[in-house]
Amino acid sequence: MAQLYDRVALIGLGLIAGSMFHAIKRAGLAKEVVGYARSAETRDVAREIGLCDRVVDSAAQAVEGADLVMLCVPVGAMGAVAAEIAPSLQRGALVSDVGSTKAAVIEAVTPHLPEGVHFIPAHPLAGTEQSGPRSGFAELFDNRWCLLTPLEGTDPAMLLKYKSFWEGLGSKVDEMDAQHHDLVLAVTSHTPHLIAYTMVGVADDLGRVTDSEVVQYSAAGFRDFTRIAASDPTMWRDVFLANKDATLEILGRFTEELFALQRAIRTGDGDHLHDYFTRTRAIRRGIIEAGQDTDAPNFGRNAK
Ligand code: NAP
Repeated sequence: MAQLYDRVALIGLGLIAGSMFHAIKRAGLAKEVVGYARSAETRDVAREIGLCDRVVDSAAQAVEGADLVMLCVPVGAMGAVAAEIAPSLQRGALVSDVGSTKAAVIEAVTPHLPEGVHFIPAHPLAGTEQSGPRSGFAELFDNRWCLLTPLEGTDPAMLLKYKSFWEGLGSKVDEMDAQHHDLVLAVTSHTPHLIAYTMVGVADDLGRVTDSEVVQYSAAGFRDFTRIAASDPTMWRDVFLANKDATLEILGRFTEELFALQRAIRTGDGDHLHDYFTRTRAIRRGIIEAGQDTDAPNFGRNAK
């Protein structure tokens, strides 16, 4: 793949930025990648493991001369970081972010960006429950969607080039409106995370009562829940605070369905349960057919 940018600045050096660095190098998408993280500890680790061509000690320094600036910090920190880098941004530079919510990030970042600087928000639908500078890997974005939520008046050539960048990182790219993105992600990612956090919290309370049996005998779906509920607390706190309306909307619908299932169990309505589970099983098949997962047996589920 051809080099698309001269200097990419990665602000925040965790799972997503680390994976971007490795994938940029794998495809030769930039001449130089400069990195910055707020803590000296993270910057030291990044230098030690060779994460970025250069690691600098301020966000302002990182963006100097960069033609692509990637904000890879929790969504609640995007606005403050944008304010910090604004005076040092090069005219004509593209600023983007990888935040898991889009409307709140656009609202927080846009007011700080100077005239002549472009902004195209992005969200790679790829991640793991790991975080920090050592957690990134080049294949993270391979065959995963990256959703771009361009603002009105976005330069078409800039957008096309940025799209090629994410394709170069291994992603399939799609565009949508930020509000729509937030609703879709509330369904596919945010609310499921909240449910996993809740279920593991409930099991933890029970675990205290039953002498850790839930941990010792954890199997089937519960193990998947614990993996999801191990995700970074700061990132997810910010996601729920930033995507409040859409998450509450989906959570409301979830609660209604849960009550209906609860009633079916109480009244012995097996037909209702069977029909419901038949419908949800078909959704799983659809996801596999769309190439978003495989039907290989899962270890956690086999260990009943
Ligand atoms: P991460 O591994 O936890 O790394 C976060 C980075 O942000 C760290 O370098 C951290 O610096 C820095 N940071 C944290 N709080 C900050 C603050 N208040 N001000 C400035 N910098 C701060 O996180 P990640 O998983 O890469 O997530 C980064 C972004 O990607 C988030 O917006 C998240 O919503 C989005 N995202 C995540 C996933 C996922 O599954 N993980 C998937 C798609 C998108 P220190 O190390 O110095 O503390």
